[in-house]
Amino acid sequence: ATPTAVMVASGMGASLGVLIKGGDALEKAHKVKIVVFDKTGTLTVGKPVVVSAVLFSKFSMEELCDMTVSVEASSEHPIAKSVVAYAKRLRQKFGSRAEDVPDVKDFEVHVGAGVCGKVGRRTVLVGNKRLMHACNVPICSEVERYIFENEIQARTCVLVSIDGKIAGAFSVSDPVKPEAKRVISFLHSMGIASIIVTGDNFATAIAIAREVGIDEVLAETNPLGKVDKVKELQMKGMTVAMVGDGINDSPALVAADVGMAIGAGTDIAIEAADIVLVKSSLEDVVTAIDLSRKSMSRIR
Ligand code: ADP
Ligand code: MG
Repeated sequence: ATPTAVMVASGMGASLGVLIKGGDALEKAHKVKIVVFDKTGTLTVGKPVVVSAVLFSKFSMEELCDMTVSVEASSEHPIAKSVVAYAKRLRQKFGSRAEDVPDVKDFEVHVGAGVCGKVGRRTVLVGNKRLMHACNVPICSEVERYIFENEIQARTCVLVSIDGKIAGAFSVSDPVKPEAKRVISFLHSMGIASIIVTGDNFATAIAIAREVGIDEVLAETNPLGKVDKVKELQMKGMTVAMVGDGINDSPALVAADVGMAIGAGTDIAIEAADIVLVKSSLEDVVTAIDLSRKSMSRIR
C-alpha cells in the first residue's frame, strides 16, 4: 500500500479502536485465511471466578486456603487472582486475619502450568495436572474424576498439592465473551477458518470451542507450541492471524502474519502485536480484516 493509503486506513482504524502499527500488517490482513485464537482472556472474558473448592486430604479448608493464598498471591495470572480472592474470602469467614497469611519462599512460575513455593517447611504447588506430573505428584482416581467432571463443563481445575500430595482443588469458571460466537460465524462467512490454541486442558478447550463454533483445537500447549501451530499453518500456504492477550501469546503474535493483541491484555502482547484491538472486542478482528480489504481494493 502507498504511504497515503496506510495513513488513511490507520486513521480510520484508530477512530474505530483498531490500532494498526504499520503498512505490513494492513497489507497482509486482507489475505488472512485462518485466525488462531488464544482462549483465556481472548475468547473468554478473562475474569475467571472460583465456583467451588474441595478437599482431598487431611488438611482443613482453612489450611488449604492459607497455603494457596501464600503461593498464588505472587502470581500475575488471572486464575491466580480469582483463586486468591476466593480463598481470602473463605479465610475471612473462618475468622482468620488477612495479615496472618504465611510468607512464601522460593516462589517459582511454571509457564502454562502453575506456581510453586515453600510455605513454612511445606512445599506447595498450585496449578494444573501438567504441573503435578512435572513435579511427580500422583493423581488418584477420585481427583481424576473431579477434574473430568469440571472440565467437561468448561471449568478449569486448580489443584493444590502440599508436600507431594493433592490436598484440594478449586474449580474456576471463565465465561465466553458475548460476541465470540457471532464473530466466529461471521469470519466463517468471509471464508476464514478459526482455531483455538491454549495452555488449558483439552476438555475445557473443546467445551469452549463447541460453545463458539470452532472445530479445531490445540490444547495443553506452551508458548512455543502456539508458535509451532502458526508456522505449521503458514507452511500450508495460509496467511495466519493470531489473536491473544498474554505474555504466553507474544511469540505467536510475532510469528503470525498479522498479530492482534486484545487491548486489555498484557503490555508485552500489545508490544508484540501488529494490530491492537483497543476496545478488547472480538468484533474488531473483523473490523481490522475489513479495513485491510477495503484499503487494498482501493489501491488496486
Ligand atoms: P491460556 O493459554 O489459556 O491463556 P496459560 O498458558 O496462561 O493459559 O495457562 C495454562 C494453564 O496453566 C491454566 O489454564 C491453568 O490451568 C494453569 N496455570 C497457569 N498459571 C497458573 C497459576 N498461577 N495458578 C493456577 N493455575 C495456573
Ligand atoms: Mg490468554
